[in-house]
Amino acid sequence: MKQKSSLTTIHKKWIKKCTCELRNTALRAVTGNGNEHSLIVFIGEAPGKKEDETGIPFVGSAGRILDELLSSIRMKREDVYITNIVKYRPPNNRDPLPAEKLACRAWLHEELNSIQPLLIVLLGRHAMNNFFSDLTISRVHGKLLHATIPDISTHYFLPLYHPAATLYNGSLKKSLYKDFKKIPSYVRKIEKK
Ligand code: URA
Repeated sequence: MKQKSSLTTIHKKWIKKCTCELRNTALRAVTGNGNEHSLIVFIGEAPGKKEDETGIPFVGSAGRILDELLSSIRMKREDVYITNIVKYRPPNNRDPLPAEKLACRAWLHEELNSIQPLLIVLLGRHAMNNFFSDLTISRVHGKLLHATIPDISTHYFLPLYHPAATLYNGSLKKSLYKDFKKIPSYVRKIEKK
């Protein structure tokens, strides 16, 4: 039987192999980070400046919000696994282009299938539309989705607003906290299935 590759091996392989054009402008690849045995994986959009400098996802202002959100449900970032759909910083933090998302897709899929989480939390519309191209974040945030997606072993997805979108928007922030509180009960519900 084929052995599951470790995450370190997967990241090393893709750092060499990834054809994303953003490699030409970013300082480094920002690979996923955290507990590879986690039941939950959080997926964001793409690294920003701080992430590009450190090689660690969600360490800037959006990361501080994510840490607060995790602590609101008594979790720490060491308990979960955090990654992005695109592994390299887009210049000036512009939105990643479809070709850049596509170039990083097989890397993300291999990462996810190595962890095989019960639940994938999609932070923001870019992460959500990478898996569900026809959904709108304002309609489905906080709703648990059950779906079979080619090449992905996980079947449960939770779209949430992106933490950075809530920086200057109090009502989105309230919504995000409310949705985040549902994570533990969703995980218990999935575990019982
Ligand atoms: N925003 C993201 O989507 N990912 C990061 O790693 C940082 C900010």
